[in-house]
Amino acid sequence: MEPSKTLRIAIQKSGRLTDKTINLLENIGLKFDGYKNRLLIKSMNFDVELLLIRDDDIPEYVQDGICDLGVVGANVTKETSAEVTVLRDLDFGHCRLSIAVPKSSGITSVNQLDKKRIATSYPALTQEYFRKLGLEAKIVKISGAVEITPRLDVADAICDLVSTGGTLKTNGLVELETILKSQSQLIQTKKPISAEKTELINKFLVRIEGQQLAENSRYIMMNASKSALEEITKIIPSLNSPTVLPLADANMIAIHTVIPIAKFWEVMEELKNAGATGIVMLPIQNMIN
Ligand code: ATP
Ligand code: ZN
Repeated sequence: MEPSKTLRIAIQKSGRLTDKTINLLENIGLKFDGYKNRLLIKSMNFDVELLLIRDDDIPEYVQDGICDLGVVGANVTKETSAEVTVLRDLDFGHCRLSIAVPKSSGITSVNQLDKKRIATSYPALTQEYFRKLGLEAKIVKISGAVEITPRLDVADAICDLVSTGGTLKTNGLVELETILKSQSQLIQTKKPISAEKTELINKFLVRIEGQQLAENSRYIMMNASKSALEEITKIIPSLNSPTVLPLADANMIAIHTVIPIAKFWEVMEELKNAGATGIVMLPIQNMIN
C-alpha cells in the first residue's frame, strides 16, 4: 500500500480520552466536521485525518505506520510494548496502575501475594512487576470490571487503573502499591514519514506547547496607585515586563501581566499588601512565547 499523504492520527473512539483529545486537536487549530459514529474523519483545514479506534489498538497502529501519530495513555503503550516515539506528555488522563487487595484479606504487602491469583487487564506490566520482585503471580486476564473479581473469588488481588480510588473503596479494596504512573501521550511512528508530514507535526508540537503554557498560566489585571508600581513589579514573576495603563484617575494605573498558575495564590496576598486592588484573573486560550 502507498503511504498516505495525509497525516493520520489515531485517537480513542469512545472513552475517557475522547473528549479531551478532540479538545486538544481543536485548540491547536484543527477543524473537523462532526465525530459521531465515524471511523475516519478528515480535517476541514489541514491535510490530517483522525482514525477513531479502541485505545488498546492505538500503539500498534502507530508502530506499524498505519497511523503517523496517536493519542493514548502511557499505560497502554507500555503494556503493548509497541515500538513508537513518545513526542510529548499531554497532561490529561492521569491515572496509576495499582495493586489492590480486599480490605478484609488482611494483606498489607505485595510479598504476601506470591503464587496468588491477580486479576488484571495489564498482564504484561503486572507479570513484569512481580518478576522483578522475585515473586510469582498467577495472572487472571480480565478485560473489564476487574474490581469485582476478588468478591467472585476469581482472584485474590487485582492490578488495575486508579484515579481517585473511589471504585476501589466502593468494592472494599485497598491499594497496596502503584506499579506505573500514567497520563495521555502523543506518540509517533518510527516508520519513515514524508518531510511534509514532519513539518506539520512540528507545527502542531509548537502549538501544543503554547496550549500547555496557556493552560498553566493566567492573565492577571489589577489597579494600583502610581507609587505602588515599583513594589508590584518586584512581586510579579512575569514572563515579560508588565503592561501598565493609565486610568481616569491620574494617580492610578492598571497593571496587566501573565503569571504561572502555580504562583497565583502565592503572589496574590503580596500584591494586595503592596496596594493592588480589584485583582482579576483570566484564563488564556493560547500563547506563543
Ligand atoms: P476502549 O473501548 O477504547 O478500549 P477502555 O475502556 O479501555 O476503552 P477507558 O476507560 O476509556 O478505556 O480509559 C482510557 C484511558 O484513560 C486509560 O487507558 C487510561 O490511560 C486513562 N484513565 C484515566 N483515569 C482512568 C481510570 N480511573 N480508569 C481507567 N482509565 C483511566
Ligand atoms: Zn481499552
